[in-house]
Amino acid sequence: MAQPVDPVKTARLFEFYVRRIWPLQRRFVASRLRRRCVRCAASEAMLPLNAQQLCSECARQPLQQSVLRRERNAALEAELARIFSAACGTGGGAHDALVMFSGGKDSCYLVQRLKNEHPRLRLLACTVDNGFMSPVAKRNIDEVLPRLDIDHVFIRPRRSFYVKLFRYALTHLNAEGSYGTVDFSDGEFMLDAARNLASEKGIPLIVCGYSRYQVENGLGLHHFESPPERERQPRVATAGLALTEIFEDEDERRLWWQGLRQPDALLPRLLFPLYAWDLEEEDIKRQVVAWGLMSAHDQSPIVTNHRLIPLLGVVDVHRFGYSSFEKEFCRMIREGKADRRTWQHTFEFLEYTSRTGLFVKPLVLDLLAELGLTAEDVGVRFD
Ligand SMILES: [Zn+2]
Repeated sequence: MAQPVDPVKTARLFEFYVRRIWPLQRRFVASRLRRRCVRCAASEAMLPLNAQQLCSECARQPLQQSVLRRERNAALEAELARIFSAACGTGGGAHDALVMFSGGKDSCYLVQRLKNEHPRLRLLACTVDNGFMSPVAKRNIDEVLPRLDIDHVFIRPRRSFYVKLFRYALTHLNAEGSYGTVDFSDGEFMLDAARNLASEKGIPLIVCGYSRYQVENGLGLHHFESPPERERQPRVATAGLALTEIFEDEDERRLWWQGLRQPDALLPRLLFPLYAWDLEEEDIKRQVVAWGLMSAHDQSPIVTNHRLIPLLGVVDVHRFGYSSFEKEFCRMIREGKADRRTWQHTFEFLEYTSRTGLFVKPLVLDLLAELGLTAEDVGVRFD
């Protein structure tokens, strides 16, 4: 049997190539690549480009929009702080708040700020391991937990559960691509697992470190709290896919949120503090470094991400001409929060290697095999 491909090595090689080799090579293969917006790097497959090679989004905002910092909403912050204060000591067991913990900077920031501002709030950090976590992300969790000095649990559903979910999602992509199908269902299950754990343990609050943008655009909420009528709903579908289609086994469907088992039981409240605090990425980064939780040396998202990301990117490029993860990066570039050149080169190389297979082919084939899929099943053909 062939040795499995090391995903971290592949990611580092990919990064090195994009930084050092691709800036030269791209000139020779430009005719084979889609044109991109000169301002935000959006592919012409994603948005139409005008004569000046500006995408429709950039053409709508002709002046370099200096992104205005939103006013801090003190009333909203105070309302959130009152919920945390009132919850101190009210948990049915040893904890008052279950904090979703990925080990990334946002979740570290969240835990430390809650500890600082609400020292009597008894926290339990929780990581949902989908079986495809990057080994680098796992190591980061092991390193930072002692510094945060917080109780922590891993939720690890059986392997076959996630394989079924990801296999089904990847072969039934909705219009939002693998980001809106595979990644979204992964996020929905993470929150469902938290709802189940919190309700079993009598923990009144669930706290999640999604940004304001993720809360508004991903979840369609316009407040820091998910409304109770929404939280009460048992799950029947994820990313638009019916659970009964994905899982024949009722035991597997019951791993999702089924609503309260007893009608008079406590319904956990789901909170997104970063919606109310509304900080810039840079502020969060600076603060976690100042607290000594992370080093200033930024962990690359390519290395710390979900192991399936390269596969998702390649499948998207074959299906749509671009990766569905690009949309959010182009938005950040337009808002001055991400570097255009770096991400344009990354996405161009992804587009190129999706056809040529350079570096990524062995990894992509390994990941497909892990999911019990072939390249044809997901419409991928390397030259
Ligand atoms: Zn643009």
